[in-house]
Amino acid sequence: MLETGEIFMKSTGSPLFESPLYQDALSQLEQAASTMSLDPNILERLRYPKRAIQVSVPIRLDDGTVKTFEAYRVQHNMTLGPGKGGIRFHPEVSLSQTGALAMLMTFKCALVGLPLGGAKGGVRVDPLQLSRQELQALTRRYATEIGPFIGPDKDIPAPDIGTDGQTMAWFMDTYSQELGYATHGVVTGKPIVVGGSLGRAESTGKGVAFCINFAYQTMNKTINESTTVAVHGFGKVAIPAAQDLASQGAKIVAVSDVSGGVYNSNGINLKKAIEWVKRGRVLADLEGVEKISNEELLSLDVDILIPAAVSGVITKDNANRVKAKVVAEGANGPCTKEAIEILASKGVFIIPDILCNAGGVTVSYFEWIQGLQHFFWDLDQINSKLHDILHHAFKYVYSCSEKYNVDMKSAALIAALSRLEGAMKLRGMWPG
Ligand code: GLU
Repeated sequence: MLETGEIFMKSTGSPLFESPLYQDALSQLEQAASTMSLDPNILERLRYPKRAIQVSVPIRLDDGTVKTFEAYRVQHNMTLGPGKGGIRFHPEVSLSQTGALAMLMTFKCALVGLPLGGAKGGVRVDPLQLSRQELQALTRRYATEIGPFIGPDKDIPAPDIGTDGQTMAWFMDTYSQELGYATHGVVTGKPIVVGGSLGRAESTGKGVAFCINFAYQTMNKTINESTTVAVHGFGKVAIPAAQDLASQGAKIVAVSDVSGGVYNSNGINLKKAIEWVKRGRVLADLEGVEKISNEELLSLDVDILIPAAVSGVITKDNANRVKAKVVAEGANGPCTKEAIEILASKGVFIIPDILCNAGGVTVSYFEWIQGLQHFFWDLDQINSKLHDILHHAFKYVYSCSEKYNVDMKSAALIAALSRLEGAMKLRGMWPG
């Protein structure tokens, strides 16, 4: 039997709707809309992005030849404020995937209560195959191509998979060169010295750790030496989340990257593993540790599982093997809709992505404000504001899960949609 989202997609035939991630986002949206009786006219508008830009990014490679890359910026909804969302450099980037991620950003910003809309960008490229000079050319040309649609009052990019502070510094410089003056507010996730914010680099992982603590509080438990954690991923989100939980006493028994995972029932030596990967090496080559596959990591008997790498890793095929009691979605869309249903029916406490990884965009919001005011805050102020915003959002989602008797994943979407519906109705539709 086809679900409503699938019927809708089959009837449009648009490439926008073809990725599994967009299909999942759409069917989760439709399910939440039906549970909360969302106005059907609001649902109709949210199915589509406001604007989807496709550009070509030609660059000269180091060998003198020219290569062109496909790239996108999708602005899903800007009712609450300027667009906000990362830029991904990855070989699987597509219009549809970028559209789905932009939709998630709309819900994430609405849920946390930021005055920002949802957007996402990406270049279909494997950044590991390019030299530093080629990456710089790619970033600058991409920034130029999407430039007319970007700006501190229009749409503010940030890092995502395959991009970092250096990418943002090149992006900000390109935009600023065209205007003739330094423009801090055009991107977030910048290095501190060019207008970045303290705490932004660790913010997504820190937010994951905060949300796990909030979840534990609702279960009357505390993180301590007997808490075991497996982390799928070992990058920008996974590392600070693991470090934060380890500093509270938890045992990080497994971490992984694309090459595979490492396991130690007494806890991984995080310092050693971080030093290893920081020098550009993969975990599979780390000596003196037990190796496990990524698939084995997902089914470890641990208290907390944090999928913090890519989307679609927990599916209907492996969700039944998950033994963790808490699944914290550090990545965007790491569990498919079917997987969520299986996990929820097993009584797993799911911390949904739009809440769990919202620490990143929240500190991005702080960075944007600091950039506009040219006045920078201290780290204690940033972390305490981040804690309070996420705590408030967590309680809001938890109250929606009780009110509608649904799992936290559906509740998060309902919470976000309630805010969006209110704002969209108040602003109305042009030309009416
Ligand atoms: N790429 C991050 C995300 O998916 C951060 C977005 C931002 O800071 O604008 O939430």
